[in-house]
Amino acid sequence: MKERILTGDRITGKLHLGHYVGSLKNRVELQNQYETYLLLADVQALTTHFEKPELIEQNLRNVALDYLSAGINPDKATIFVQSLIPEIAELTTYFSMFVTVNSLRHNPTIKSEAKERGFQDMYYGFLGYPVSQTADITFCKATLVPIGEDQLPHIEQTRKIVRRFNQLYKPVLLEPKPLIGDVPRLIGLDGNNKMSKSLGNAIHLDSTQEEVNEKIKKATTDPARVHKMDIGHPDICPIYAYHQTFRKEGSDEIYESCKKGQIGCMECKLKIAQSINDFLEPMRERRIVYQNNPKMVYEILMSGTEKAQLVAKETMQEIREAMSMNYF
Ligand code: ATP
Ligand code: MG
Repeated sequence: MKERILTGDRITGKLHLGHYVGSLKNRVELQNQYETYLLLADVQALTTHFEKPELIEQNLRNVALDYLSAGINPDKATIFVQSLIPEIAELTTYFSMFVTVNSLRHNPTIKSEAKERGFQDMYYGFLGYPVSQTADITFCKATLVPIGEDQLPHIEQTRKIVRRFNQLYKPVLLEPKPLIGDVPRLIGLDGNNKMSKSLGNAIHLDSTQEEVNEKIKKATTDPARVHKMDIGHPDICPIYAYHQTFRKEGSDEIYESCKKGQIGCMECKLKIAQSINDFLEPMRERRIVYQNNPKMVYEILMSGTEKAQLVAKETMQEIREAMSMNYF
């Protein structure tokens, strides 16, 4: 039997370049080798968007289109909707009996996300989302989880929960490993934060050529550079980070010219905007096909969800048996 991959995205908005280099690229590359499960995390989206569930609904189709246009093959990968697998919620409840509040409070990603969102007192569901992610990963017995760097503490927490469950009851769960992408944390257009759906600092995978050009034009660069001939600091410039990511061959030259004040920010931006547009072009072409056929997208999600439901039922039977809860 092929090993399984589980990963996914909160459907809080359209996917961006950070998603691609952090996780999506690995998913596309590994879908032939692994049985791949891709989760549209609507429940997890509620941890920060419970007041606006209608936004989540709108994004469901967008994220599915992002997957398909990025090269996910629906004949190989199983794309499914989290809230339609009630076993995930059930497993989350069981795991939460033996996960301490302090272990969640000390999780560095939880801490920084709570700070970013200005949470004084954390919501129960938000604090516990790494437990729910553990249920996502374990219900389908995934052994590999392609993610960006911010997710590493959660995988560590998942591994601990799996070990604890197996030790408390029976060894039915598998310990997964993380797989970090080429770029573990792509910086956002603001130059301060990771590129993120929620922070308005992203270039989305469905951007038109004009949108890419406009966003790159407005992006923050090295604040010390006022004139073209000023000495630059490419290490702190998001535009240089994009050169390294999307224009690898030319990026050493850019680095040197920026440091010596031989290339202006405008010229540097034009080059990278062109490369990002070249990179997105095949995705745009694939997107049109799926966009014009919403019924096909709907059927892909339906059949993926049905397949995940069967796997969840099987695992849940084992879980209940391990916990001596198969009463009748
Ligand atoms: P939100 O702001 O709503 O949390 P997000 O942009 O952080 O959105 P998620 O759905 O939380 O996106 O993350 C999905 C996956 O993409 C995770 O594996 C995450 O690590 C990865 N990822 C997200 N942003 C980046 C980034 N800028 N660089 C690398 N990987 C990223
Ligand atoms: Mg996130």
